[in-house]
Amino acid sequence: MNCELCGVTTDKLYLVDIEGSKMYVCEKCAKLGKIIEMPSTKISNENAKEKIEKELSENAEPLIRSDYAKVLTDSLVHKKLKIEDLARRLGVSESYLRKVFGGRIVPDENLAKKLEKILEVELYY
Ligand SMILES: [Zn+2]
Repeated sequence: MNCELCGVTTDKLYLVDIEGSKMYVCEKCAKLGKIIEMPSTKISNENAKEKIEKELSENAEPLIRSDYAKVLTDSLVHKKLKIEDLARRLGVSESYLRKVFGGRIVPDENLAKKLEKILEVELYY
């Protein structure tokens, strides 16, 4: 939300009477006129909280590189390892690991970190 007078972005807008015209303005500009309505901080706080939580959940997962399957496969070949051996070492099923290496399943962070360590690769940007 922006103050109609100075244009500053704020989550608290006051409805004020400034020289006869009603405007939604920021706290600072509200002092220039007569306050008709106080901002409903409860609602805007909840919105802000929701927004922060949304942003946090969106940023929670680190971004895995898009060519992770190629990186994994190349390293596997380079290290002369077999997927079945790797699966046993990681405690995951071979078919699951094949899907990861085939780029059909994105490994979860826990697995990806183990793969990074064993194959000495970087899977995250
Ligand atoms: Zn203002």
